[in-house]
Amino acid sequence: MAVATRAPLIAGNWKMHGTLDDSAELVSMLKKVVARPKDAQMLLCPPFTYLMAVRKWLKESNILLGAQNLSHQPDLGAYTGEVHGSMLKDVGCSFVIIGHSERRQFYGETDDLVAQKFQVAQAAGLTPILCIGETLEQHEKGKTESVVVGQMLAVLKTVGVAAFSNAVIAYEPVWAIGTGRTATPGQAQKVHALIRATISKHDATISSALRILYGGSVKGDNAKVLLSMDDIDGGLVGGASLKAEEFAAIFQAALN
Ligand code: PEP
Repeated sequence: MAVATRAPLIAGNWKMHGTLDDSAELVSMLKKVVARPKDAQMLLCPPFTYLMAVRKWLKESNILLGAQNLSHQPDLGAYTGEVHGSMLKDVGCSFVIIGHSERRQFYGETDDLVAQKFQVAQAAGLTPILCIGETLEQHEKGKTESVVVGQMLAVLKTVGVAAFSNAVIAYEPVWAIGTGRTATPGQAQKVHALIRATISKHDATISSALRILYGGSVKGDNAKVLLSMDDIDGGLVGGASLKAEEFAAIFQAALN
């Protein structure tokens, strides 16, 4: 079981889904699930446009708010269409997802850009959730370990190990995202242990406190066994986070 300092974190990545009304309904149902302080944390990451509204609805609840992306620009300025980390902090975010595979795949985000985003997120007082994971092709060629370690080292060399004392890593095999195909608990645990060991080579204390989430078709019915693995400290959930009952079931699985 995960050590006490690593309270399970169940994060919902809504991606580019929903309407304001859908969001209101989802939040009101989830608030009932997280009515009292619990041993696990729930985090919602809606689209930028709904952050303010969700913040208002979450008032006096224990559910945390996060964003799905941020600008790599260190300073405010004339950058049309960009959103600065300080703005996310200003509207109540405490976390931000960095380097999601969809951003790497569709928007050409490189390891260097991801590392810059990691730094500006922390400078703004946000906790980055760094997403890493191999594609299907890399998986089939047996490159999972080298890809995952490579993605981590690329960020580590820029930000330094101390930065991981206020960060979360999400291992998300790309072939499991939105496909209904999940890594087996054993497969996921092996990669999570490798991630922790990689950080441990630089700082064992930071490594043992680091939360490592699994993402990739997590559902109510597979969450419990995944979350029972020693180095799986929560989940980053896409599709199932849009369904209140399903997301609630995943959260419930993190509680016991
Ligand atoms: C994700 O996009 O981070 C994700 C894990 O999606 P899904 O749960 O739908 O596979």
